[in-house]
Amino acid sequence: MNDKNDLVLVAGAGGFIGGHLVADLVRQGHTKIRAVDIKPLEEWFQTFDGVENLQRDLREAPACAESVRDVRWAFNLAADMGGMGFIELHKADCMLSVLINTHLLMAARQAGLERYFYSSSACVYAADKQVSADVEALKEEDAYPAMPEDGYGWEKLFSERMCRHFQEDFELPVRVVRFHNVYGPNGTYDGGREKAPAAICRKVVSAKLSGKHEIEIWGDGKQTRSFMYIDDCLEGIHRIMRSGFSEPLNLGSDHLVTINELVDIVESIAGLKGQLRRNYNLDAPKGVRGRNSDNTLISQVLGWAPEISLEEGLEQTYQWVYDRMTAQQQVA
Ligand code: NAD
Repeated sequence: MNDKNDLVLVAGAGGFIGGHLVADLVRQGHTKIRAVDIKPLEEWFQTFDGVENLQRDLREAPACAESVRDVRWAFNLAADMGGMGFIELHKADCMLSVLINTHLLMAARQAGLERYFYSSSACVYAADKQVSADVEALKEEDAYPAMPEDGYGWEKLFSERMCRHFQEDFELPVRVVRFHNVYGPNGTYDGGREKAPAAICRKVVSAKLSGKHEIEIWGDGKQTRSFMYIDDCLEGIHRIMRSGFSEPLNLGSDHLVTINELVDIVESIAGLKGQLRRNYNLDAPKGVRGRNSDNTLISQVLGWAPEISLEEGLEQTYQWVYDRMTAQQQVA
């Protein structure tokens, strides 16, 4: 999008990635941004002057029609979701996000949008390809034959498929990415929807502040994942929006680590290396055994792939969680 005066919609702008995307668009000099989220404004992670901030339920068709009015590019980051602790126990809620994408696509078609971005997930990948910690990285074609994460993953796979057919049948230009574990400051770190990096930062900060040197880890700590820092995520979103590629594309790091290794890094940042006793909760939700992003296709298509190291990204994330928790302590 060359003209910074064109109206852009960010759906889910009160959330983690949506909030960072609005921040980035403001930084880039965009003058007309419409930010929409179901949450009351005071609960949004980030808000900005000069942005049209609206509280709307995008499961409703009229709310979607109003939200895309006069918009050229739309980014759909709105979904009822969270980490494994949330999606394993709220499958119906996750699937109801299909209403958001359905109504937004219909409204986008009606309004003749130039670009529609959909945030899918690595949870679309078939479970039988993720049974070992030493997993082979997932290529885009591994989503089929379909056996995604129950609930959340099925909704994502169905919705990305719907994007495909809106492009094929109605000529709505879509861009679809499959995010792999995005993390960073200004996101959920407690309350039940948090994901592993933020949850581990919170637990380590808590151990540091309380002096009680132990933490709980979900699973045996040997399960593997890759984690992408938010700045790489934003770079990828902008690059794919500018590209001519409309098939689903992995957007994630291909650096595979165990959860134990993730904890090692956070402990070092906190100055507590090797000092925390780890209590493994084998009954907690754990998700698949191993998951990594194969970045062959994104490298070919965009000439770029996520590159920020886990140490660098976690440093920023830990510091943000630490500042929030110490500020809360002072208020209490
Ligand atoms: P988030 O939960 O922080 O943000 C999602 C936002 O959508 C929330 O603020 C929520 O209030 C809003 N929302 C929910 N229902 C809504 C509705 N009916 N109407 C309007 N807004 C509504 O999550 P996030 O981490 O920022 O994720 C953004 C998108 O990326 C989501 O689609 C998510 O599924 C996808 N994704 C994220 C990750 C990740 O690691 N963060 C991984 C894979 C996919």
